[in-house]
Amino acid sequence: VERLPYDRPNTTMREFPLCQMCHEEYENPNNRRFHAQPNACEACGPNVWLESKNNTLSEGHDAIAETAELIRNGKIVAIRGVGGYQLLCDARNNAVVTSLRQRKSRPAKAFALMVRDIAQLKTYADVSSTEEKVLSSPQAPIVLIKCSSSKFTKAIAPNLNRLGFVLPYSPLHILLMNELDFPVVFTSGNLSNNPQCTAVKEARGDLSEITDYYLHHNRDITNRVDDSVLTVFEDKPMAFRLGRGYAPISNRIDKVMTNTKAILACGSQVKNTFSLIDGERLITSQHIGDLTNQRINDDFETQLALQKQLFAIKPDYVAVDLHPDYQASIFGREYAKQHNIECYDVQHHHAHLAACLYDNGYPADADNVLGVVMDGTGYGPDETIWGGEFLYGSYAQFKRLGRISPVAMPGSAQAILQPWRMLYSYLQHHQFKLSELPAQLQQVLKEKPLETIDKMLENNINSPLTSSCGRLFDAVAAALGICSDSISYEGQAAIELQQAAENYTSSCKPSGYHLNIKETDGYLEIDTSVFWTEVIADININLTIEDISAKFHIGFAQVVTNLVVRLAEDRCIEHVALCGGVFQNQYLLSVCMTLLTNAGFKCLYHNNLPANDACISIGQACVVASQSLGA
Ligand SMILES: [Zn+2]
Ligand SMILES: [Zn+2]
Repeated sequence: VERLPYDRPNTTMREFPLCQMCHEEYENPNNRRFHAQPNACEACGPNVWLESKNNTLSEGHDAIAETAELIRNGKIVAIRGVGGYQLLCDARNNAVVTSLRQRKSRPAKAFALMVRDIAQLKTYADVSSTEEKVLSSPQAPIVLIKCSSSKFTKAIAPNLNRLGFVLPYSPLHILLMNELDFPVVFTSGNLSNNPQCTAVKEARGDLSEITDYYLHHNRDITNRVDDSVLTVFEDKPMAFRLGRGYAPISNRIDKVMTNTKAILACGSQVKNTFSLIDGERLITSQHIGDLTNQRINDDFETQLALQKQLFAIKPDYVAVDLHPDYQASIFGREYAKQHNIECYDVQHHHAHLAACLYDNGYPADADNVLGVVMDGTGYGPDETIWGGEFLYGSYAQFKRLGRISPVAMPGSAQAILQPWRMLYSYLQHHQFKLSELPAQLQQVLKEKPLETIDKMLENNINSPLTSSCGRLFDAVAAALGICSDSISYEGQAAIELQQAAENYTSSCKPSGYHLNIKETDGYLEIDTSVFWTEVIADININLTIEDISAKFHIGFAQVVTNLVVRLAEDRCIEHVALCGGVFQNQYLLSVCMTLLTNAGFKCLYHNNLPANDACISIGQACVVASQSLGA
């Protein structure tokens, strides 16, 4: 759809005039295709054809049958879908899946799988009725379901026990999957860190080193859109990424606040989305991605122009992240200047809190809540890096009451990519002697430039302080040898650490590590000194990583609860909002919810919106909307 109203001439289907038969169906009120805008058949609809790198091999049904045969024979085929190209291959074939990983430069991140139908899926995984319902919904998202990758080939998801499954959702996918009696890898067709290819020419260029064959069709894709990813938590769908079928998301905002101005909220740097408020509705774009990439950055501007036109919105205010260098913040400040409107900075974790309140329909005039924002990194007004925060407030305002005790992040962004840096920073912070550490830890830090790091820490060079929860999880993962050298996708170390805790199978419940609370600079802080001594002692006696990870998760949930209880002594706290990207960790979320509920609190958490930075633009929009209410 390029324009409203939704009539064929306003869509990419205008290129395909209806044939006699389809036209009669379209004009006949008794036919079920009466005024069906995308109506088409084989004669007049889009054509498909199969291509090798040099030649067209076949067309129509032959092309689909031949594609199936190629996949059966261990080839990779790039298939033009609804919102862009996807790469497909046999999910059981270790050689082809491994080769796809190498060609895509994607060493570890899990691949999603397309299955023919629920019956086929059930031969591999236990599927709950809710999971089945979400998979079969008209939106047809990718659903993360517990399933071992060893049932296909380990290379699908080397270290994970949740796999993403999707049912065929376009006529082309259905025809193809009918020819195959096994699941296929289903991953976006793009160069590493680039957006998914949409045009035939673009695919021929970008994917030439990755795919063996192409199955093209000649219906243009105006709107690049990624697949949506959901999971099921506590028997309800929980969003991880919102694209095809869900976005743009449009909801009435007047259930939480009324009389709002028109607002453009520009979102975060990674997992970017943007949001618009038109006074009545809050509209959020699809998942756009990491704006560090120029082509994704261009996509941001294209999408924004498209959505502003679709919904006819002229912003009164702009909302941006407080961060000085986020691409989206720079864009928003410039946009405000050009249009002579006011631009508001919103602190990253306040935006997380506001998004969680909005997701729960929490009214703007209700009592303050306590936001427990456990996240990667976000810029704080004190110019340090926040990310493990206890914020008391609501949409319009907040006060920081607690945090994870800050440590240095040696190398800044490098410390996010190389978890051993955070491990070393924690060990130095608590003054452990390298020579007295267990062999396993010495191994992790062997051949690392520790002298340089020491100098950086000593002289405060490129080593900002951080209270980030994600970085604490990275440090613990590194201590256990999980992704200690480097990660290959965002959150990898924390995801694999969660996996280890979930693999804890002993029948006796693990006791949590001791994370204490101390008071510093007027904040209640989570103190990690005793905790690290206990972890090192357990590594010394060769306790398994499953045990240690479970003890860490439980200990962390306990200290979060203890800290909330302490803060509730001095003020009225009824609701606790568990938000920030770390709470995509369902194991942690579940233990926190149990402990907090037992302590008498009501927990708010994300269901409809992702807990990660994709929700930042929504939070920004809500914060500025509520701040400008009285203005
Ligand atoms: Zn036709
Ligand atoms: Zn965040």
